[in-house]
Amino acid sequence: MKQDETLAEHLQGQGISRRGFLKFCAATASMLALSPGMAGAIADALGKARRPSVIWLSFQECTGCTESLTRSHNPSVESLILSAISLDYHHTLQAASGTAAEEAREQAMHDNKGEYLLVVDGSIPTGAGGGYSTIAGISNLQMLEETAKDAAAIISVGTCAAFGGIPYANPNPTGARSVMDLIHDKPIVNVPGCPPIPIVITGVLSHYLTFGSLPELDNLNRPLSFFGDTIHDRCYRRPFYDQGKFAKTFDDEGARNGWCLYELGCKGPTTHNACATAKWNNGVSFPIESGHGCIGCSEPNFWDAGSFYQAISSSPEDLSRAATGAIIAGAAAGAGVGLYNKYKQSRAKDKHYTVTTKDMEDS
Ligand code: SF4
Ligand code: SF4
Repeated sequence: MKQDETLAEHLQGQGISRRGFLKFCAATASMLALSPGMAGAIADALGKARRPSVIWLSFQECTGCTESLTRSHNPSVESLILSAISLDYHHTLQAASGTAAEEAREQAMHDNKGEYLLVVDGSIPTGAGGGYSTIAGISNLQMLEETAKDAAAIISVGTCAAFGGIPYANPNPTGARSVMDLIHDKPIVNVPGCPPIPIVITGVLSHYLTFGSLPELDNLNRPLSFFGDTIHDRCYRRPFYDQGKFAKTFDDEGARNGWCLYELGCKGPTTHNACATAKWNNGVSFPIESGHGCIGCSEPNFWDAGSFYQAISSSPEDLSRAATGAIIAGAAAGAGVGLYNKYKQSRAKDKHYTVTTKDMEDS
């Protein structure tokens, strides 16, 4: 993207029509739970936006998060927005390497002190003095601390960066930690998911570009507009759950009829994410629509939270404890979990807050 180009001009130059751009803005407004009229405001603000500096650091990760964003559609407005705003430094996407790459990061930090957004994917290994993963001769932890120092805000993309993810799984040999475990003096937005949904990443960036602030967050720093509901709240198989119609195996009559996958281990009732509405591959489908239960990848400790194929009513201890009352009261299978989930959700909503530009200035 040229330095003096607006985002609208950049997208136009890439062959994205005005209609395509407006469609993206309308989808973003809807996903951010804004009133329909706000789509125009997003289009105006986003269209005029000029190259905000974004530094993207990839630590202990599998590149799935970046793949999710750049390869999902071809080419998507989402991926073009990313390329338009994140050219300053991105381990995977940048052409530069070695000293030139590090100089680009330092230059971006220097030129945009206090104003750049830092995006992180991957967890940060802290064992062996940070020796499990180094870049340009310094540990991931050192690079994170150095780059976070003058950032306006941090977006932790993917469950690894948000909660430690797969590297954090027991026994966590590298001492993997999340960004929010290590940085405490900056606004942090978590966009978990393994990988995260592309429009959720661009939705957070679009909100920042449009309003100069980060969206409202839940108690785990996840944007409420995307993570306020569970998969279960929006699942199209929900009527079968409510009727007590469950598939017992992946190839029985229930599975063929599209019944609920709860008894096959679906973690939808305890997983907050937008998969059921945003879907994947340009809105084509999501795991439950393909016949597999949700594995809960956007929740903390998802890898250690019990078998993917074990029904949740018999797994996490606190879940079953909280759900017991409803189960004893004779509720249908799984309803206790649903009630607990509602409780958790309202608790998260009670604690949400908005990060403003003033917060960023004060931090
Ligand atoms: S969150 Fe998942 S997709 Fe992203 S880096 Fe970690 S393991 Fe890969
Ligand atoms: S348990 Fe899973 S498959 Fe069943 S309704 Fe809930 S989210 Fe959908």
